[in-house]
Amino acid sequence: MTFELRVVADSWRRRIDELVEATPGLVPVVKGNGYGLGRDLLAAEATRIGADLIAVGSYSEVPGALAAFGGDVLVLSPWRPFLSEAVLDPRVVHTLGRVDDVAALAERAPGARILLEGRTSMLRHGLDRHELAAAARAAEGLAVEGLSIHLPMEGGQLAEAQRWAGVLLASQIASDRLFVSHLTPAELDELRETRPQLSVRPRIGTRLWHGDGSELGVWASVLDVHPVRRGDRVGYRQRAMPRDGHIVIVEGGTSHSVGLEAPRAVTGAKDRAKSLAYGVMEAAGLALAPFAIGGRRTWFAEPPHMQASMLFLPAGTTPPEVGEAVPVTVRHTIASFDAVRFV
Ligand SMILES: *Cc1c(COP(=O)(O)O)cnc(C)c1O
Repeated sequence: MTFELRVVADSWRRRIDELVEATPGLVPVVKGNGYGLGRDLLAAEATRIGADLIAVGSYSEVPGALAAFGGDVLVLSPWRPFLSEAVLDPRVVHTLGRVDDVAALAERAPGARILLEGRTSMLRHGLDRHELAAAARAAEGLAVEGLSIHLPMEGGQLAEAQRWAGVLLASQIASDRLFVSHLTPAELDELRETRPQLSVRPRIGTRLWHGDGSELGVWASVLDVHPVRRGDRVGYRQRAMPRDGHIVIVEGGTSHSVGLEAPRAVTGAKDRAKSLAYGVMEAAGLALAPFAIGGRRTWFAEPPHMQASMLFLPAGTTPPEVGEAVPVTVRHTIASFDAVRFV
């Protein structure tokens, strides 16, 4: 009985291979919950596609990456002098975004491999372009392996990448490598064409591991089914059910991320209209659940439990069989699965 991520292995690998083929210099990003697939699985996949370098998100992910992957490991989060868990290893490439930090690392770990990060319109980390000369001077004794930029997902990324490419070429940084994020294949081609002197290394996570999402599916086992009548009380909170129907117990609770939604930027009119149509259930205090039965979203009979959820299925929809798996919609990057299965 599981709450599992199923991956259609053939098409997933075929699509990854095509992207790798079309994207010279690709740096697979292997961070967080491994985009739902797990970092070790992605590290093995990065090995299969012949990557020389993977990128992890933070220093806490470095030891696992060094164990699971034989090549180099780039840390996306900048090295800071106060990071006690930072691993200084010849296979680790650090990202530096403050002049003082460059000097501190040069003193602490001569010969360490670094990228200097430029502060883009993202405004997350990095050096202002006027600070690059000072950073390059402070990096004496370190191995500077390129300039890194983190671009927003929307609006004018190519123009911004082109500007930084120019900055790198005019700088004292003794490397021709520009590490970028969030450019489309066409934008990458254009960047390479206009800046043939540079070696462009795109860091890609979501597009590489998820594609359009069609090769990945989340399934939950049905653990139990019980008929109920309108007014019957169920669950920890003994809430009255608004109609006749069934209670369906499925694998998948808060420990898997069920019931948690990553904040979304927009709540459109469509979402509001949809909830109007569902007014009866909402009036009864029920919330829409991410499990689908008979092709329809279902309702939580009460808030999800740690590892299972109680769903209310109104009469008229045939309940699933115990042991059957039902599809679930969750954000892969916040979910935690009992198993990842290649099918
Ligand atoms: C996460 C991350 C990426 C990869 O982002 P995706 O949208 O998953 O491709 C690239 N660069 C940096 C700095 C990141 O933090």
